[in-house]
Amino acid sequence: MTAGAEAAAGDPGWRFDNAYARLPPLLFARVAPTPVRAPRLVWLNRPLAAELGLDPDALAAGAAEWFSGNRPPAGAEPIAQAYAGHQYGHFTNLGDGRAILLGEQITPAGTRVDIQLKGAGRTPFSRSGDGRAALGPMLREAIVGEAMHALGIPTTRALAVVATGEPVYRERVLPGAVLARVAASHLRVGTFQFAAALGREDLLEVLLAHAVDRHAPALVADPEPALAFLAWLLERQTSLVARWMAVGFVHGVMNTDNMALSGETIDYGPCAFLDAYDPDTVFSSIDQHGRYAFARQPAIAHWNLARFAETLIPLIPGGEEAAIGRLEAALAPFPEHFERERTAGLARKLGLPDAEPGDAALARDLLAAMTAARADHTATFAALEPLAAGDGPPPAEHAAALAPVWLEAWRARLERQPGGRAAAGPRLAAANPAVIPRNHLVEEALAAAAGGDIGPCERLIDAVSRPFAPRPEDAPYRLGPPPGSGCYRTFCGT
Ligand code: AMP
Ligand code: MG
Repeated sequence: MTAGAEAAAGDPGWRFDNAYARLPPLLFARVAPTPVRAPRLVWLNRPLAAELGLDPDALAAGAAEWFSGNRPPAGAEPIAQAYAGHQYGHFTNLGDGRAILLGEQITPAGTRVDIQLKGAGRTPFSRSGDGRAALGPMLREAIVGEAMHALGIPTTRALAVVATGEPVYRERVLPGAVLARVAASHLRVGTFQFAAALGREDLLEVLLAHAVDRHAPALVADPEPALAFLAWLLERQTSLVARWMAVGFVHGVMNTDNMALSGETIDYGPCAFLDAYDPDTVFSSIDQHGRYAFARQPAIAHWNLARFAETLIPLIPGGEEAAIGRLEAALAPFPEHFERERTAGLARKLGLPDAEPGDAALARDLLAAMTAARADHTATFAALEPLAAGDGPPPAEHAAALAPVWLEAWRARLERQPGGRAAAGPRLAAANPAVIPRNHLVEEALAAAAGGDIGPCERLIDAVSRPFAPRPEDAPYRLGPPPGSGCYRTFCGT
């Protein structure tokens, strides 16, 4: 931390105000990132930097030092957050074992966002871990986060990836990296579980006030903030999971410590997008019982929300029994609310502005045919747009999923919409992405990056950043996996 280095990279516009670091000290540990040998900026998210009020050129000049953690930015107050969580159903005390929150940047729009370094070295919560991350998984998080953002799905985002110049030891020796991650906050279901496990009502109260203030300020004056926030979060979570499913996203590790109270998607580990549509799809090699399979995501989100609700019991006046009754009542609408969101999402994917009673069945029939045909999720829905106005059959590669009987029913349904079938085209194009981060392309791009070539990652991020308006040169990014490539597997050695 030399004054000379400070002068070398000018202030890009840091504006930190660290509210979390002012909470009771039990909730975090002050800890500096561990310096790395040879920090080098690998990738910078210039549009995001600009949104945060950070000058992209000035940021690029200092990013290697700031985001490796070798010299935290001015105004940062590095901390590791305490949290607990149910991992695959089992409760554990966790905490940021390899992540260090630099602080909260206040953006020109006046919003407050966390900037966190993932892979920044050991913390008091590291247990047996090395506190480090490998380049591939950090770039995967950047790629998938940018894709989700472009798809209109709430998500944390990567601001930068910095190579450390140090090896990390997993199943193999891999290049190390630090991810600078931007999030509405890093509050998790597990944050409340940590305080609840300590039996500390006072901490729960402080956390609830903090969460409401940050994420649901309209509820600040609510006479029953715990119940109001739970209802708010239920809406966020049902909508989030419905949006995941609309694009074929499998999070892969929906432990309660990976469920953000902001309603953003967080912690891209063994996540992936469906190629062939199959509700039982599991990508993660360690999810042996399919707990986090594609179609189980709503049930798991509901379960996780119930774990959150349990932590709120002491905050509801009138005694434990009454509190449980009211929390259960608040959770009860989850399945119905989710079904409504899921059906609305599917109706949009069919080009319908509003769901009618028969639409859920129309969508279900298509999904059943897609499952039977092992049809590509993204390509099948993208094929609908050119079929809406005309009467012709689908291209041969979609014939198995888009049967004549179904097409006829769908076209008849479109006729009844204002504007008829002709009006459906733009709606279909806006609802069905042509480009998602294809698993085989992500792997190719990460392999190139490990070999020192960031180009394929940059081009992939560019392509997934315009999912609904592909250019001719994006054609290769629309293709499914090469035939015979078998089941895609992700590994948790991140
Ligand atoms: P995750 O599965 O990535 O959500 O992480 C679960 C828990 O393990 C969190 O408490 C992480 O901070 C911790 N963790 C994961 N990888 C490491 C590592 N390499 N070193 C220390 N802690 C880790
Ligand atoms: Mg996590």
